Amino acid sequence: MIADHLHEITEKLPQAVRLVAVSKFHPVEALREAYDAGQRIFAESRPQELAAKVPQLPTDIEWHFIGHLQTNKLKLVLPYVSLVQSVDSLHLLEAIDKWGSENSRVIPVLLELHLGAEETKQGFTAGEIRDILLRYCGTVPSETPPDLRNIQFCGLMGMATNTDDEAVIEADFCRIESLFHALRAEFPSLASFTELSIGMSADWPIAIRHSATMVRIGTDIFGPREY
Ligand SMILES: *Cc1c(COP(=O)(O)O)cnc(C)c1O
Repeated sequence: MIADHLHEITEKLPQAVRLVAVSKFHPVEALREAYDAGQRIFAESRPQELAAKVPQLPTDIEWHFIGHLQTNKLKLVLPYVSLVQSVDSLHLLEAIDKWGSENSRVIPVLLELHLGAEETKQGFTAGEIRDILLRYCGTVPSETPPDLRNIQFCGLMGMATNTDDEAVIEADFCRIESLFHALRAEFPSLASFTELSIGMSADWPIAIRHSATMVRIGTDIFGPREY
């Protein structure tokens, strides 16, 4: 089942787009099934759940974190993940930088752009993201240390408005796509800034038309989640 779902998706994904299997709320047996079918990138959204699953699964899995991350939970997440996709506040970014400095690690992150209409959605404005990169690239003198030396900026993440209206989703993805290209042009020295993580089960076919380099798919692979 899971293997068939993976196969159906990877057949349609352009080669350059990486599939991130969103395994939150699913048991390790389901992840194992996906692993045996060849899937190697998995994403979790809850620190405890991630930390519990990692030791039960093969070590060549690449783990991403995609949930809201509280700064008192960093030690449950940062030792295990190769990418934090959901950095949504300066407070969190600075805490990750500090953890990296204390643990001699450089942590790869995506900055989450606030997209869509919902009030509750996390994320930065486009202006805030630009300010962070200006500060990191030293274009403006940093009045507020630290200067984020233990962060590697790998790109942007976004979630489109939760709607059936394709035009609205399209507009959301257009906005993050053009910000992504504009930042790449403005900060050519940021060689690592190459990833655009957009697209979930409901909208990934639209995302791949808007420069997605990663899609984050849960339900279409593992079926519905039981909360
Ligand atoms: C849960 C989640 C997904 C996957 O959602 P599906 O609709 O199940 O594909 C993708 N991205 C984020 C940030 C999520 O929290």
